[in-house]
Order: sequence, then structure tokens, then C-alpha cells
Amino acid sequence: MGYKSDIEIAREADKKQIQEIGMKLGIESKDLLPYGHDKAKVSQEFINSVQGNKNGKLILVTAINPTPAGEGKTTTTVGLGDGLNRIGKKAAVCIREASLGPNFGMKGGAAGGGYAQVVPMEDMNLHFTGDFHAITSAHSLLSAMLDNHIYWGNECDIDIRRVQWKRVVDMNDRALRQVNVSLGGVANGFPREGGFDITVASEVMAILCLANNLKDLEKRLGDMIVAYRRDRSPVFCRDIKAEGAMTVLLKDAMQPNLVQTLENNPAFVHGGPFANIAHGCNSVIATTTALKIADFVVTEAGFGADLGAEKFMNIKCRKAGLSPDCVVLVATVRAMKMNGGVAKADLGAENVDAVNEGCANLGRHIGNLKSFGVPVVVAINHFVTDTDAEVRAVKDYVATQGSEAILSRHWELGSEGSADLATRVAEIAESGVSKFAPIYEDDMPLMGKIETIAKKIYHADDVIADTKVRDQLKLWEEQGYGNLPICMAKTQYSFSTDPSLRGAPTGHSVPIREVRLSAGAGFVVVVCGEIMTMPGLPRVPSAESIHLNDDGQIEGLF
Ligand code: ADP
Ligand code: MG
Repeated sequence: MGYKSDIEIAREADKKQIQEIGMKLGIESKDLLPYGHDKAKVSQEFINSVQGNKNGKLILVTAINPTPAGEGKTTTTVGLGDGLNRIGKKAAVCIREASLGPNFGMKGGAAGGGYAQVVPMEDMNLHFTGDFHAITSAHSLLSAMLDNHIYWGNECDIDIRRVQWKRVVDMNDRALRQVNVSLGGVANGFPREGGFDITVASEVMAILCLANNLKDLEKRLGDMIVAYRRDRSPVFCRDIKAEGAMTVLLKDAMQPNLVQTLENNPAFVHGGPFANIAHGCNSVIATTTALKIADFVVTEAGFGADLGAEKFMNIKCRKAGLSPDCVVLVATVRAMKMNGGVAKADLGAENVDAVNEGCANLGRHIGNLKSFGVPVVVAINHFVTDTDAEVRAVKDYVATQGSEAILSRHWELGSEGSADLATRVAEIAESGVSKFAPIYEDDMPLMGKIETIAKKIYHADDVIADTKVRDQLKLWEEQGYGNLPICMAKTQYSFSTDPSLRGAPTGHSVPIREVRLSAGAGFVVVVCGEIMTMPGLPRVPSAESIHLNDDGQIEGLF
């Protein structure tokens, strides 16, 4: 039997006018700023007006360490949101916007899959409401003003060898990773080395996603460190006087976007910071707004739970005063099999032993998540090739870990397939058993925070850091940054820093390569291993097969 592609299903969606979707959450037409018929931004006046409301229940969707088999966090987030609505709950979904670059490379879309998708998926995966373009523009304005400052006499005494602020573009373009700028003579400035990151790696993106309002956004933009002087003292964005104009460029981008699921339920799609050098979740303003107007909010954190959920809890929840009521840990039979040593090509055949073998990774995530005081439900995101015996093996294993696994068939069936999961998740969230707390205190030394994450979440023996790194952390503590949370940047494929170590490794060390201060976003980035802030395209980029058909419809976008 053939299955339709994501885009084919999305195209058949029976979309409602966005005003009708807004009304489901009590957002009146005057408070929606429509972008066409099926997308709208929510006005700041409306957001201000609901601040006195009680918060709904917050549900985080996270996953095991990703495998090439695919896990389906967004698909499950959307499916669970629809499932909650199906059982009569007022639920909204909060997910990230998509970056253009990876769409033309090889990643899947960012709108979910099968019958659990957010629409219009083409828009969402392309220009959408222009937020990322606005972020690129705001970032570029600061880049231009910084070089302009140097050109006109460099009053701030910037050491041009120590400019931290790079340029950005929302494209996978490896040719721009390192560039020389200001070439061509006196009229063009002082030549120096620079480079480009992809837009989603910009600190402006992280700030937009953590700021509570426009005032907070402006302050945080001003706090960004853009360069250092010869004496190593920092030069801030506010020294360049760019934060006001940047905030103007970001004014509309700061408002959350409302769209709908295939089943016409509300979905907020807003912000999309990288999950390695940033925290990888949708904007605080979208999540906090949704909580004021929905009884249940289902949201997603990027990568596996060791990175995504850890940062969601220790950075986003801490900073925004959020407290998850239930965590849904997505696992698939296929991923268990891959963790159990089966090659991707052989995933179609039943292999209960491999499933059993591969469950250790799942078990460790369950334990880790519980250490935040939150109840955990495992969602088995059903693939049509999964057999009953394999599903049973996962359920039995999860039961031995003091949790429960529920099969969910939202990809194939929409909310009909996720109603069981929704029922159980609602029960747990409403029971109030969650006793959420971040796993380290604000006032713990930075090195102590890093060690806490390495030991409690990665189950490593120790952290390896040379004197340079330790001295840098101490210096930041002296400068008043010691109370910031940590943003770990490591491989998403393993609990360790070695991507090939699957399962639940022990006895490993976590070597720190470098540390970076994101003073505006408000975290210290700890880089362990290779991290990429400007991806490249694969040998055959998916862009080669994307085109408009004779009816003017987009083909090849998933
Ligand atoms: P994540 O958010 O974890 O990166 P997504 O939910 O975006 O993953 O899913 C990635 C891809 O996998 C999508 O193209 C989606 O259609 C596909 N997918 C997800 N769940 C299933 C499933 N149960 N069966 C088949 N394909 C699926
Ligand atoms: Mg996703």
C-alpha cells in the first residue's frame, strides 16, 4: 500500500480561516495581524491583556538520541496536540519555525509529518511571516555598524583581530564560513578576517526566543559582546548603539505566529534557535502566551533529551519561570533496533532481540528526565512496519524503568491514533504530581554546573578542561556572569561526546574545547567537540528536486 507524502497530505488540508482558529483560543479578529488567510501574528495588546490568566498545563515532547531511523518529535507534538483536542481539551501546540538552509539540503520539514502536521507547511518551511529575514536584517545592521564604527576612527578601540560578531545568512553555504572583509583599499575600511553563520545560530535568534517583551529584547541586544579591546575588555552592542534600530527591525518578528494543524487546532510557530550553540526551543513569548489561553500546551525541544530537554529545563524554564507538568519521551521501534545494532537497510524485518538490546538509551533518558522532578510517559511513535512483538518489548522494558509506554499512531491516523496517549498525558498533567526543579542552582560556579550536567545527564566520570578554559570561566564569574546557566554544545547522537557511542555509555570523559559567552541571550556556551554554525549542502541537495509544477504548486519540498 502506498502512503502519501507529507506535502501531498498538507495540500489536501481543509484549512479554516485563521480568524476561526484564533477564536478557539479567544483571540478576536482585531488582535490577529493576518499574513494572508491562514497565518497571523498575535498582537502585543492581546498578549498584555491575558497576563492575569491562570496558566494551562505544559507538556514537553523530547526524544531519545536521534538515529538515522528518525524519531518524530514534531510529528508527535502535533499529533498529541490534536489528540488532546479530540478528547475535549483546549490544547495548543508550540513549535519552532524552519530555517531555509537545511530545507534545501537534506533535512525533513519542520511542520511534522503524515496526518500530524501544521499547515500551511510550504509557507512554514519557506519565508513564512518573514521572522528569520528580520533576524538576518537586524544581525546584519549590527555587522554593518560595527565595521562602520571601525572605519570612522574606532572610538571604542576595538581590536579588529578580536571581533566576535560574525555575519549571517539563512542558507547552508560553506563557502562563507571564513572570509576576509574590508578589502580593496582605504575607502573600504580596515581589512580583517570574518565569517558567516547561518541565521538560526545568531545570538539575535536566541535573544528573540528568550526575551519576555520588546523592552527585554532591546536590553538583551545591547548586552551582546561584539568584540574585545587589546586589553581584552568587552565591547558591547550598546557601545555601537545598534540595539534600538535592531529592535525596530524585530518589532513584528517578536509577535508569535498562529497557524493550524491539519485538524484545525491552534499551533504557534515562533522562533528557531540552533540546538547546539543555543537552546533549541520555540520562543518564550509563544509558550507563555499559549499557556495563558489554552488549558494544555504541547511544545518540543530539539535533538535528544540529553541536549534539548536539559536546556529546555535548565535554561528556558528557569528563565521564563515555566514548569513542565509532564514530559513525553518519543521513541520508535526502529530507533531501538538501530541502537541495538541493526543497519538502516535491515530495519524492516522484525527483530525483538535488537529492540531489547537497544532500550538502554531510552532507559537512561527516562531516569534523567525524572531527576528534574517531572513525570515521564514514553510515546512509541508507530511506524507501519513495527510488529506487535516489537512494540510489546518496548512497553515491557519501559515498565521496568518505572514509567509507561503508549503506542501512538498519529502519523497514520491523526488524532484518532493519538487519543490514548492524549488521555494518559492529560491525566498525569492534571494530577499535579510534577515537582519540577532545574538540576543546578543559579549560584553554583560555572564549572560546577558543567560537571553537574556531565555527571547527572551524560553519566560521565569527569570533565576535562585546560587552564585556559578554567581561567576564562573564572574571569566571567568575576565580571558578574557567574549566575548564568550553561548551554552545552555537543553531538546529539550520544550521551557522550563521541557520536558513535550509542546506548547508555559509562566511563567516558567530557572534554571542553572552548567556552563562549552569550551575554545577551544569557548563557555560557560550552563547546565539546566539533560544532557547526554554518552547515554545508550535501552532494545532491534537495534543492535540485524542488520546483513549481504546471499548477503552480510546490513539488519536492518533502
Ligand atoms: P523530529 O522533530 O524529531 O526531527 P519530525 O517529527 O520532524 O522529527 O519527523 C521527521 C520525519 O519523519 C518527517 O518527514 C516525518 O514525516 C517522518 N515521520 C515521523 N513519524 C513517522 C512515522 N510514524 N511513520 C513514518 N514517518 C514518520
Ligand atoms: Mg522537530
